[in-house]
Amino acid sequence: MKKLEQLYEGKAKKVFATEDPALVIVDYKDDATAGDGAKKGTIRGKGVVNNRLSNNLMKMLEEKGIPTHFVEELSERETVVKKVEIVPLEVIVRNVAAGSFTKRLGVAEGTVLKAPTLEFSYKNDDLHDPLINHYHALALELATQEEIDTISDYAFRINKILSEYLLGFNIRLIDFKLEFGRLADGTIVLADEISPDTCRFWDATTGAHLDKDLFRRDLGGEEEAYKEVMSRLLGE
Ligand code: ADP
Ligand code: UDP
Repeated sequence: MKKLEQLYEGKAKKVFATEDPALVIVDYKDDATAGDGAKKGTIRGKGVVNNRLSNNLMKMLEEKGIPTHFVEELSERETVVKKVEIVPLEVIVRNVAAGSFTKRLGVAEGTVLKAPTLEFSYKNDDLHDPLINHYHALALELATQEEIDTISDYAFRINKILSEYLLGFNIRLIDFKLEFGRLADGTIVLADEISPDTCRFWDATTGAHLDKDLFRRDLGGEEEAYKEVMSRLLGE
C-alpha cells in the first residue's frame, strides 16, 4: 500500500489517499500544540510512540468488540486506516477531575468522580471546540440520535476496557478524548488516535504525569514520559 496525494495536514498527523478509495494512510508527526494552538513545539519521537500505541490500543479494543478504523501498521509512523467521515464531535470521558473540568466546575484536580462523565465538544477550530450537549449536536445536525447513542455506549465501554487494561501497567486513566467516524455504509467506528496526546495518564503509584500535560504546562520530561508509556505497554 503506498501513499498517493496528501488529503490533509493537521496539527499532529498528515492524511494521504491510497489506491483504495476506502482506505487512507495516516502519518504521525512530532509536532505538538497546546492552548488552542498558542503553544507550538515538538516532542521528539512522539509520532512513533503515538502511532504504535494507538494501533496497539485499537487492536485490543477491536478484540473486545469495539469497531475501529485500524487496518494495518505500515511503518513506525504510518498506518493504513479505513477512511471515515469524521463526526464533528470531540467525545471526552472523565474518571478524575483535571484540566478544563477543574477550571469550569471548581473541582480540585485529582478528585475522583462519583461516576464517569461524558462531554461533547463541537470539533470546530474557528470556534475553539466549544462544549455542547447532545441537543446541540442534534439541532446542528452534527449526528443523529442513533449515532449519539452508539457513540456514548462505545465511549463508556472503551473507558472501562482501557482503564482496566492500563491499570495492569500501573497507569491510571484520568480522562481522554475520542473521535468517531462514519464508514461509507454509515457504520460508526472509533477513529483518530488514542495516545498520550489525547489521554491523561498518571502513574498509579507516584501520580506522575505520563502525557501531554508535561508539554502543555511546561513541566518538561515529555519525551521520556511518552517513551515510558510505550515501554510499559509494548515492552520496548
Ligand atoms: P487536527 O485536525 O485536530 O489538527 P490531526 O493532526 O490529528 O488533528 O489530523 C488528523 C485528522 O484526520 C483529524 O482531523 C482527524 O479528525 C482526521 N481523521 C482521523 N481518523 C480518520 C479516518 N479514519 N479517516 C479520515 N479522517 C480521519
Ligand atoms: N483533549 C484532546 N484534544 C483536545 C482537547 C482535549 O485530546 O482538543 C483531551 C485531553 O488530552 C484530555 C481530555 O481530552 O485527556 C480532556 O481535556 P480537557 O477538556 O481537560 O482540556 P484541556 O485541559 O486539555 O484544555
